[in-house]
Amino acid sequence: MTRYFVTGYELAKWTFLKELDYTTDPQDNFDIVCLLPGTNINRLGEQLLDNRRLLTPIANFTGRRWPRADFRASKPSLEAFTSAAQALQPLCVAVAAIDIRNSSDYPSLAILGLAHSRNTGLTASRAPALAELVEYPLLAAIPKQRRLLEDLASGGLLERQHFDRLYFCENCGSSRMHVREECSSCRSSDLNDVSLVHHYRCGYQGIETAFRQQDHLECPKCQKELRHYGVDYDKPKAVHSCGACGEVSNDPAIGFICNDCSQHADAASLATREWYNYELSPSGVAALQAGLLPHNSVQTLLSKSVGICSIGEFVVTTAQLLKIAERFERPLCACAIHINNFEELRDRFGVSNLASAFLLLGEIIAQIVRNTDLVSAREQTIYLLLAETEADNLQIVEQRLQQETSKRISLPLDLTIERYPRDKLAQLLRTLG
Ligand SMILES: [Zn+2]
Ligand SMILES: [Zn+2]
Ligand SMILES: [Zn+2]
Repeated sequence: MTRYFVTGYELAKWTFLKELDYTTDPQDNFDIVCLLPGTNINRLGEQLLDNRRLLTPIANFTGRRWPRADFRASKPSLEAFTSAAQALQPLCVAVAAIDIRNSSDYPSLAILGLAHSRNTGLTASRAPALAELVEYPLLAAIPKQRRLLEDLASGGLLERQHFDRLYFCENCGSSRMHVREECSSCRSSDLNDVSLVHHYRCGYQGIETAFRQQDHLECPKCQKELRHYGVDYDKPKAVHSCGACGEVSNDPAIGFICNDCSQHADAASLATREWYNYELSPSGVAALQAGLLPHNSVQTLLSKSVGICSIGEFVVTTAQLLKIAERFERPLCACAIHINNFEELRDRFGVSNLASAFLLLGEIIAQIVRNTDLVSAREQTIYLLLAETEADNLQIVEQRLQQETSKRISLPLDLTIERYPRDKLAQLLRTLG
């Protein structure tokens, strides 16, 4: 039996609800979200995001348009609820098969899940009420849509198709720009059209106001009166005269004013932003099924600048080297570098910034280790095995790592380094095995 989550004002007046299994608590279990008149859409969006219910089918009975809804009817009734449950049944099944609610990559995975379960692309739409002027209606309630979508596309999980290129203000980021004609000298928009007058006899050409006497036209160069249009003179074209500085020009300049912060920009120097529609790629479907985003792992990010072996190889080789080191009394040690704020950095700075930071981190590690050493990573921890190295030297390694990362990486990486001298390596192997 379908369980409904119901939102709206004065729910008691909808007496038919008594015949249904429903809840008003967003933390409960339910199959379908039902919007009744008076629903606060913003609050509902927050509830769905907080409770990781972004994929749950939504039925809209408010009579008002909401593009995110999967089903709509003009007003609530028992019949409308029943037909919603029927119509949304296949979608409920599709959503139930997507297991991402506990993933650390929510809501990025929810974006993939929405496209997959609705069998649709993520289509951009013009939104004059937003400073960016573009939104993705299917992603209503998901903040930072553009950054998440672009991160997914850079990782190959979504495919981009051009939607539009929009100018934006470099001061505040808004695309609500007013385009206007301006004086090319002082940038005022106080331009007036004035006619040019050409005196045939002496060849002088100037703006009409310079010829104008009380009731006739007189050439300012030769002082002759201009009587007949087409015989004495003609008006070849209109030009622009600036009310602020008096500059006369043929072609006014094009300038932009930001409607949000009033910053001025020239057409030539204005920044643009590409917007795309997105389609789910086969890798996107695979990521959704796996419940995590492959391109975001420490291991993948790091492997671009330093040689990395799998945890399995690391364990086997370390075990071997440990035996030899113990037998021949050779030094051997390891350290585990834990990145405490990986997810926070990813959410705050985006995957592309994170990727550049890890490229540098990989370079720093590559400088510290020798080719006889091993590097591996799992989740948010990097493991280094240092052959022929006394445990005392781990302190130097740690210092260099902290110094170099704070010097070269602008993202605030929060690292904890755990030291494993030779007699503690067996313990490390147990945690990894
Ligand atoms: Zn003249
Ligand atoms: Zn001017
Ligand atoms: Zn602005």
